[in-house]
Amino acid sequence: MGEFDLIDRYFKRPAAQAVLGVGDDCALWAPRAGMQLALSTDMLVEGRHFLSTVSPEALGHKALAVNLSDLAACGAKPCAFLLSLALPRVDENWLAGFSKGLWTLADQFHCDLIGGDTTQGPLNLNITVMGEVPAGQALLRSGAQVGDDIYVSGHLGDARVALEVFRGNLSVPTPVFEAARLRMERPTPRVALGQALRGLATSAADISDGLLGDLSHILKASHVGAVLEAARLMHLLACGEELALPMQDQLRWILTGGDDYELVFTAPAALREQVTQAGVLAQTPVTCIGHITNGSGLTLLDTEGQPLAHDFVSFDHFA
Ligand code: ADP
Ligand code: MG
Repeated sequence: MGEFDLIDRYFKRPAAQAVLGVGDDCALWAPRAGMQLALSTDMLVEGRHFLSTVSPEALGHKALAVNLSDLAACGAKPCAFLLSLALPRVDENWLAGFSKGLWTLADQFHCDLIGGDTTQGPLNLNITVMGEVPAGQALLRSGAQVGDDIYVSGHLGDARVALEVFRGNLSVPTPVFEAARLRMERPTPRVALGQALRGLATSAADISDGLLGDLSHILKASHVGAVLEAARLMHLLACGEELALPMQDQLRWILTGGDDYELVFTAPAALREQVTQAGVLAQTPVTCIGHITNGSGLTLLDTEGQPLAHDFVSFDHFA
């Protein structure tokens, strides 16, 4: 099978919303009046972002999910995406699985595949997504205010538990592993929550490298500090109760685990009720974990409210 047959067979479908989709030199998109385009790109490299043993279907899901997560963090509605693939060889089994995972998620969010690039080479996946958001309403990292509450969506740290099991560093009961593995291989982009938070959240980011690191980006961009309460964080590890891990380990994975694809965001304390409602509307659990302070940096309080000494650091590709 040649390059163009491959594209036709696995990656070409009529675009539902684009003016022009796959097949020409460019795709064409007509932005709606009053909307801004939100654009983001994410690359997945074998060995770095996924294990070689992952199923192609899960990989198709994850490649798009991590990109949709960036749109969610900006409060944007997904519209379309571009897919660039380097493949070692034409493996139809792999392509069928990968495209199935990809299309399933794309359909769920009404997101058109409108173009890309296909080349031979070491397995490497890159997706660029495009979403739309009413002009001026995108959620940014720079808007957190002193006194704001800090929230996270869903659960944190479970993807890391799965990774540690894969690495042979941890052993857990099979059902616990299967649930954690789903979190690692099939993250749920919090697209509905992101949009529900427009006009409520003062800042937002998605958690890809770990809560500490991604919240730090908000603090830096907003020129503020934060206090986080361990007592509120402890329950965020979904598998925490079954595993009965030492508190320090649970906190480490919750704060630095990475690969969570949840949202961290801030909102004025006066809007607590509305934030709760946004979570209900989006069918996404939302937990208040602390608040924004003057100054800079992040203080972690233990369950007695005393500052907790720790050496937690989030993931950094070049550290
Ligand atoms: P060009 O040579 O102009 O870069 P190509 O010949 O590589 O374009 O691609 C032909 C068409 O197929 C283009 O519309 C391109 O966007 C699309 N395309 C190529 N690879 C993919 C892919 N993996 N997924 C979706 N569309 C793709
Ligand atoms: Mg061309």
